[in-house]
Amino acid sequence: MVAAVCESVGTPPEAPQASPPVPAADRGAADAALLFQTVLERFRPRVSGFVLHGFFEPLMALGLDRDTLTLGAPSVFHRDWIRDHYADEIGAELSAIAQLPLRVVVEHVPGAQPTVAAEPEPPTPASTSGGGTPEGALPTSPLASAKGAPSAPKSARANVVAFPERTAAKAPSRLNSRYTFERFITGPSNRMAFAACRAVADAPAQTYSPLFLFGGVGLGKTHLLHAIGHAAVASNPGIRVVYMSAEEWVNEYIHDIRNQRFDQFRSRYRGSCDLLLIDDIQFLAGKDASQDEFFHTFNSLHERKRQIVVTSDRYPHQIEGLEGRLQTRLGWGLIADVQPPELETRVAILMHKADALGISLDEETAHYLATRICSSVRELEGALVRLKAFATVTREPVTLAFAKEQLGPILAGQRTGLTLERIVAAVAAYFDLRPAQVLGKGRQRQLSRARQLAMYLGRTHLNLSLPELGRAFGRDHTTVLSSVRKIESLAKADAGVAAVLSRLESSLL
Ligand code: ADP
Ligand code: MG
Repeated sequence: MVAAVCESVGTPPEAPQASPPVPAADRGAADAALLFQTVLERFRPRVSGFVLHGFFEPLMALGLDRDTLTLGAPSVFHRDWIRDHYADEIGAELSAIAQLPLRVVVEHVPGAQPTVAAEPEPPTPASTSGGGTPEGALPTSPLASAKGAPSAPKSARANVVAFPERTAAKAPSRLNSRYTFERFITGPSNRMAFAACRAVADAPAQTYSPLFLFGGVGLGKTHLLHAIGHAAVASNPGIRVVYMSAEEWVNEYIHDIRNQRFDQFRSRYRGSCDLLLIDDIQFLAGKDASQDEFFHTFNSLHERKRQIVVTSDRYPHQIEGLEGRLQTRLGWGLIADVQPPELETRVAILMHKADALGISLDEETAHYLATRICSSVRELEGALVRLKAFATVTREPVTLAFAKEQLGPILAGQRTGLTLERIVAAVAAYFDLRPAQVLGKGRQRQLSRARQLAMYLGRTHLNLSLPELGRAFGRDHTTVLSSVRKIESLAKADAGVAAVLSRLESSLL
């Protein structure tokens, strides 16, 4: 093992004065892996596929000792490249996640196994079909040869989930083994999308093709897309699955055109693919040539009765810069949306994820987090990972008091800008009322329900006291209290109220 060469001290957003007393004992590879995995998720949307798969994913989290995370790189070149390009950013990201000044040290560890692939996951058909190379990892030598050419995209052949009966069993899978149907929690917000994905995975091209999934950031679209890939492989032996983001599509297209390998590009996707999974299709907007190529690929696969699944943050016709003919085709099959999860689904997701992270989370704490983090599942996960990091460092159990102490200021900061005025306006708009009606004395059922919701939101998200709310609504504090309690119980018992609450919360937060 070569001595440490890369050190970086990140600055957390609100840097604590000094390192807190961190027990020096055995915080080993498991904690390091968890922290590094979280860092990786932060980088995933920010760096190119080439950097992600070529440099980040092959890193191995070796250990977390006091304030230092040690990473292993499989080659000297790799170690130096990370040091030169990303050491500072990794340190800063790590410190921001743990809210502590943590250091990063990178060492050369010949034969290091990537942390991403080394997770203790049950093997899935897609991730085991590749044989040799670990998921996401490139062998050492291509990394070295990549020096000076960082714009070269990852080869598409690495994206193809290959099967022994058709190709040499060497291609590594790109599918994340954690993103399966079994690990996806359903509720009214995503049930239809989930069912459509299952149907497509069970019988590709026989139900809905294309399947178009759309919804906001962090709501599980990518997860579902990977899950289709896993399940399709399990139930259709020999199926050839290609998963890639639209960004990778564009990069690869440009690369192959430059290298005059257009025929190969064409045959790879038009001729040798049974299930094409394209993530974030909105990225094709404005990229005319790659869009055109996608259009022809779409036609070819559709004619040959192959399955296409596409995700987007918008409805097809709302993607500006996407040609009308492609927008139309994307709507030929089924369009399913993924909405922000309702309160109960958020609690269920938290309990499930906490379990996976080894945190024992009681329902009260889950409820506390779920009522404050409404916009995306990614944020929910982030909160849990933070709690885990704090709990690891302080060696305290995760209780409600602990969660409030550690996350309270962060969650409050996220909500800056929220006022009672905005809450009242949002509730009024939802029920097609005027704000004055929500604040007024009207006794009609819809008016009092709107008022109760506004009081509940003011109490939960602004921490306003009962007398404060009473003054704002011209009521006494006992009325406010019973309104808040009413919504609390309805949110548990009445799916309609829970859905309204969830929509209001996601529009406000
Ligand atoms: P999107 O692609 O919509 O931006 P992702 O699929 O990347 O979102 O999801 C973000 C994170 O949230 C992932 O770790 C994913 O596993 C998790 N996630 C999202 N929705 C769910 C769900 N319903 N159940 C379990 N995990 C979920
Ligand atoms: Mg996504």
